[in-house]
Amino acid sequence: VPHSRVVSQHTGPGTGWAAWPSRVLGPAPAAEKFWAQLPGQLPRAPRALSVLTPILQLPDPRAPRGVPCPPSWSSPSAVSAGWGRTLGSTNEARIERLAVSVCTELRLARREICQDAVRLFEKDVVSAWVRSVLRPAEICGLLVGARCGHWDILSDWNVTLPSTPKPPVVPPAPPRTRRPHRPDPACKDPLCCRGGRVQGPSHAGAGYWGEYSKCDLPLHTIENLLQHLARGPPFQLAYWTGDLPAHDVWQQSRADQLRTLRTLSTLLRKYLAPLSVYPAVGNHEASPVNGFPPPYVHGNQSSAWLYGAMAEAWEGWLPPEALETLRLGGFYTLRLRPGLRLVSLNMNFCSEANFWLLINATDPAGQLQWLVGVLQAAEGQQEKVHIIGHIPPAHCLRSWSWNYYRIVNRFEGTIAAQFFGHTHVDEFEMFYDEETLSRPVSVAFVAPSVTTYINLNPGYRVYQLDGDYPGSSHMVLDHETFILNLTEANAPGAEPRWQRLYRARQAYGLPSVFPADWDGLLRRFQADERLFQHFWFLFHKGHPPREPCREACKAALLCALRSGRSADPSLCRALRPRLPFAHIQALWRQRRLC
Ligand SMILES: [Zn+2]
Repeated sequence: VPHSRVVSQHTGPGTGWAAWPSRVLGPAPAAEKFWAQLPGQLPRAPRALSVLTPILQLPDPRAPRGVPCPPSWSSPSAVSAGWGRTLGSTNEARIERLAVSVCTELRLARREICQDAVRLFEKDVVSAWVRSVLRPAEICGLLVGARCGHWDILSDWNVTLPSTPKPPVVPPAPPRTRRPHRPDPACKDPLCCRGGRVQGPSHAGAGYWGEYSKCDLPLHTIENLLQHLARGPPFQLAYWTGDLPAHDVWQQSRADQLRTLRTLSTLLRKYLAPLSVYPAVGNHEASPVNGFPPPYVHGNQSSAWLYGAMAEAWEGWLPPEALETLRLGGFYTLRLRPGLRLVSLNMNFCSEANFWLLINATDPAGQLQWLVGVLQAAEGQQEKVHIIGHIPPAHCLRSWSWNYYRIVNRFEGTIAAQFFGHTHVDEFEMFYDEETLSRPVSVAFVAPSVTTYINLNPGYRVYQLDGDYPGSSHMVLDHETFILNLTEANAPGAEPRWQRLYRARQAYGLPSVFPADWDGLLRRFQADERLFQHFWFLFHKGHPPREPCREACKAALLCALRSGRSADPSLCRALRPRLPFAHIQALWRQRRLC
């Protein structure tokens, strides 16, 4: 019997108890013949003792304890008589009776003890025997010895190794990353890390928590951010400035966008509850991207599929009146608390990328007129207003943005703060008085994105607001920006650690963060190169591109920061840029990530 057969008997089909009667013992006549012959062998079977004694936990009579050799060893008839009683029973019962018979005839113990011992062990032991002993010769070999049959269950054995040569041994080393890589971060598609076509086999995978590449953030990093926020100190308000789907805009159906909307809304509710979250509609929420028909477009082409789903997903956060205008145009207002109102604008109605505005771009959905009404009412009730939106005003179509600038001027005493997103980077837009364009009246904070797209750390912003008391300004008193440093987070064995990148007042040495402070900071950026380069570093959430921002880049950026409305060269004049305005605008467009 080849040794390797012992291995295969435990793993191959048809082994075990069910196969035993036929496979082990063969056809009935052969089995009866075997059982009939076996007892004659037992008297000359020292092997039987060595098998039974350890199993039954009985003393081996041959042990050097002065116990005489059992007389039955020379008395075949006694064993044969006991053995004969096993015939005609099932195989399991046969084994049991055989064991009791051998135990008794060989005088290992009294018959009762032999029976008790065998009964106690029979279930497991007999079952093991049955599964391990395949052939009559093996049973004979087991009980009688090698001259009766070959029993090799506990003998040495070998598996069969493949004939393939053993490859060179590579010494073990710690894994490069603790977690699996995501798909290729350097693909040819506009957006990578999504399992699309890979550029080549040599590219390393993307980091588990995100990648400095043209990749969006994995969902588990967003969830990690929310877990981190849930563990931190409580917030009073949460503004969610839009752009929920990823940037794979070429393959996003309505169903995809709705899935993203519901997934993220559910996650925010799960981790931030009972905090209310106030969203603004981003340009990526639609399918196709940027496609936001004004309310005069009805039927299947309208945005009803999206606004309706938003109203459903955000029902717990927004009151019924807000849900009503949200369903109509994707914007709303509500009273946050006594003395403070929120306006959430649908900035897609200002966007040059919104192809629906080719039909008619005049105050789409009447949103700006509506805003004037809201601000007028707020002014009348001495409420302060926070405005949130996705696309910052200076990125808007010229006329929309100039009208908005006018509104901000008119209601400068009511609009306490403006919060936007969209650009992915950390910046702001200044608003000045319309007459002289020199007195700062407002600042629109443009907070850095959660997404890494492109070459950025994930980030979020916390604003400290003038608090709840009668006559509060509800203005921003300071802000802090937090990031996840991906180099650290993706290092082997690291855990994601969201950390404060900077505090505005501290980083820029500002007495406060009112509009005049940011205007003063722009002047200092011009004179203080080190300070400006620090801003450039923070602008990219602590992961700047390789080149520093010099002459033309700096002129264009400072001009952009000073411009709360689009296509207005006069706003840059105070900075005395050497570049023509058209060149500055071209640089703005090159830099856009959104
Ligand atoms: Zn956007």
